[in-house]
Amino acid sequence: MRYSGWQVIAKGLRGQRGWQPAWRDPAPKLAYQVIIIGAGGHGLATAYYLAKNHGITDVAVLERGWLGGGNVGRNTTIVRANYHLDGNTEFYSHSLKLWEGLEQELNYNVMMSQRGIINLAHSDGQMDFYARRGNAMRMQGDDAELLDRDRVRRAYPGLNHDNPRFPILGGLRQRRAGTARHDAVAWGFARGADRRGVDLVQNCEVTGFRIERGRVTGVETTRGFIGAGKVGMAVAGRTSQVAQMAGLRLPIESHVLQAFVTEGLKPVLPGVVTFGMGHFYISQSDKGGLVYGGDLDFYNSYAARGNLPMIEHVHEAGMALMPMLGRARMLRHWGGIMDMSMDGSPIIDRTPIDGLYLNGGWCYGGFKATPASGWCFAHLIATDRPSPHAMRLRLDRFETGHVLDEEGTGAQPNKH
Ligand SMILES: Cc1cc2nc3c(=O)[nH]c(=O)nc-3n(C[C@H](O)[C@H](O)[C@H](O)COP(=O)(O)OP(=O)(O)OC[C@H]3O[C@@H](n4cnc5c(N)ncnc54)[C@H](O)[C@@H]3O)c2cc1C
Repeated sequence: MRYSGWQVIAKGLRGQRGWQPAWRDPAPKLAYQVIIIGAGGHGLATAYYLAKNHGITDVAVLERGWLGGGNVGRNTTIVRANYHLDGNTEFYSHSLKLWEGLEQELNYNVMMSQRGIINLAHSDGQMDFYARRGNAMRMQGDDAELLDRDRVRRAYPGLNHDNPRFPILGGLRQRRAGTARHDAVAWGFARGADRRGVDLVQNCEVTGFRIERGRVTGVETTRGFIGAGKVGMAVAGRTSQVAQMAGLRLPIESHVLQAFVTEGLKPVLPGVVTFGMGHFYISQSDKGGLVYGGDLDFYNSYAARGNLPMIEHVHEAGMALMPMLGRARMLRHWGGIMDMSMDGSPIIDRTPIDGLYLNGGWCYGGFKATPASGWCFAHLIATDRPSPHAMRLRLDRFETGHVLDEEGTGAQPNKH
């Protein structure tokens, strides 16, 4: 079914009857040309672009739970391309361009809203760093503006500009950044992949790999063995666990990241704000809720729920930046499992096992990467060569030392 304004009106007048399911619910076949493990944003986007860009439609996406139930449905929906280092800048720049055409591409309203992002600066050193970062972004062809204190004050009057500990000196703005509705992104890619013949198989956990003479030949699942010519892992927080089933030890740790949302309020924040000094960021959803978060919980975990000390820490920082937050009621908080790589940058690469490919290490930033990650992973699986946009996102950088340490915090995942 092709969606349109007329369909919405016509179905609405008939009590919303007549809508068809957006994708099929097929039983898995005995074998596929390509299997993707994980129906999060990245797995679904990969399947979509395998079919769309490379004409490979004999594909199954295997999901242990329900489609979109992982981090793709748990994040704070921020989309941006404000990275600094070569290797990251070209990849995220490509992603933002794909975001800008995604609704037309998928014929699906992903509620892409380019409301802008601002990274606040509180010291001369930070202003200097943002000037350099902004230059790197512009040299990549993206937009960036360095704002002085008065322009930040005019754009975001609701912040505490005169906080004695962290007075706001300025900030780096990217106007093309913003937010998108996370569930809709998963559903849009799922629908697009399904329409091109991809099987989306839910409640099908991969429990092992069959590897013969150094080549993957299929996966063991809770619904039996399924053969495959090639297998791609796109399991986010579970990356190291799933890779371990193939005997791989990865430079990735899993940590919990929490997020929070308040009751709906009148518009108070025009865009996304990051407050690095307080480890806090915030935006306002279309429904009016303030959506915010901060640091990882400070220890490794596979529990997709958060702990109390971080709730206190995040609210302390939030109150320092925006004291009015104390008057809003918090509605919900939740957690997701992050696959934190040792340099804070992702990996899209082959593994030492023939036919087995890795997509992981997305840390906090995988939602904005979704379209480019799918695009580049599909390219790698289809051609066995890295996509030009992801040449540096290699696994062997941890061996050779060519790491992409965007934060300059070294091999300490909970600091990235
Ligand atoms: C609180 C929070 C806030 C965030 N905010 C942002 C943000 O604002 N901007 C941003 O860019 N990023 C953000 N992120 C990060 C982003 O959500 C993730 O990096 C990204 O969603 C990960 O990729 P994914 O969508 O494919 O993951 P997921 O949706 O987690 O998909 C992986 C899937 O693999 C499945 N799976 C795992 N093991 C198996 C198995 N053995 N067999 C079959 N299936 C399996 C899982 O069930 C899951 O559905 C945030 C994350 C969290 C938790």
